[in-house]
Amino acid sequence: MNRFEYAHPTTVDEAVRLLGSTFDEAAVLAGGTDLLSLMKDFVVEPKRLVSIAGVAELAGLAADGAGLRIGAATTLDALVDSNDVRVLAPGVHQAATGIRSRQMRAMGTVGGELLQRPRCWYFRRGLGLLAQDAGGSLVERGDHRDHAVFGNAGAAKFVHASSLAPILIALGARATLRSPRGERSTPVAELFRTPAREGERESTLAPDELLTHLDVPTGSPHNATVEIRHRRGLDWPQAAAACALTLDGERVAEAALVLGHVAPTPWIVDVEGLRGKTVDEAAVAAGEAARKGATPLPGNVHKVELAKVAARRAVLAAARRSF
Ligand SMILES: Cc1cc2nc3c(=O)[nH]c(=O)nc-3n(C[C@H](O)[C@H](O)[C@H](O)COP(=O)(O)OP(=O)(O)OC[C@H]3O[C@@H](n4cnc5c(N)ncnc54)[C@H](O)[C@@H]3O)c2cc1C
Repeated sequence: MNRFEYAHPTTVDEAVRLLGSTFDEAAVLAGGTDLLSLMKDFVVEPKRLVSIAGVAELAGLAADGAGLRIGAATTLDALVDSNDVRVLAPGVHQAATGIRSRQMRAMGTVGGELLQRPRCWYFRRGLGLLAQDAGGSLVERGDHRDHAVFGNAGAAKFVHASSLAPILIALGARATLRSPRGERSTPVAELFRTPAREGERESTLAPDELLTHLDVPTGSPHNATVEIRHRRGLDWPQAAAACALTLDGERVAEAALVLGHVAPTPWIVDVEGLRGKTVDEAAVAAGEAARKGATPLPGNVHKVELAKVAARRAVLAAARRSF
């Protein structure tokens, strides 16, 4: 690991002033569970770390009639332990519980979870986010069993790593960001993008922007996250689906469905065909919709089927049906 300067601000304003105009200049340090391992491997080399552990206003959870406000430095354990989250946003609770490592949940924060870097083994070995050499894509030529099956027509083939992002997007959550230019609020879906060239990041945050909190609407209690994992390991899921439903009796009035771990960004599924269907019909339709447009590589065709199954189960789980 390179030498770095360590800053320990106690207010958001102070933290933002310490960030820089490039990610090499400074990086936000939350729980450090992702950032520090990338620094030890020289994959990222910020000259200053701005710890947010001492910024009290960034941590904590509150619920009111409109929804949940979750501070970016709230730990994953606090999310799992919150009765408000369990009752008002069960899909968020399920996604957080799915992060099985107790150590990660104790140290990891909501902001760090959303902004963790991709779990692509080429990227993590210093071969770049797009993992290309003179012969083209290393991912296409090499082991790609965990890589993207959607949105992979360009150079980016990694999958988005966040387990919380799909359900936050399905619920219509917004993120608030602070920089020296002021504050902005954006839908969580717009925090992410697919980089087109090496050097671009997979998040839309500017280097001097700090994620301060999330606002999660809790109008509909019918939401769920379903993950498909390799046995009971600590690893990330192979595919996941998050669903939020508004029900009109037995029928689906509104739906949102977002897949995780299958594309370089959380993958929003077109659910037009679900409206007006019974829950059981909608679950079948969701499975079909979830696999539309898939472009798997030879070694990860199985992930398309996993996405389909996760989507179907997520609709049933959101409607509180067993599968
Ligand atoms: C064995 C193992 C299993 C795991 N399984 C899963 C899983 O199933 N699902 C899953 O989603 N994750 C999983 N993780 C990842 C884990 O959830 C993340 O490492 C953790 O949540 C990151 O949070 P952190 O606070 O430690 O972030 P940090 O490491 O401190 O930061 C991560 C990134 O986010 C940036 N950042 C952090 N906070 C902010 C902020 N407020 N504003 C701007 N930028 C910010 C940092 O600069 C850095 O680039 C796993 C990790 C391990 C080691």
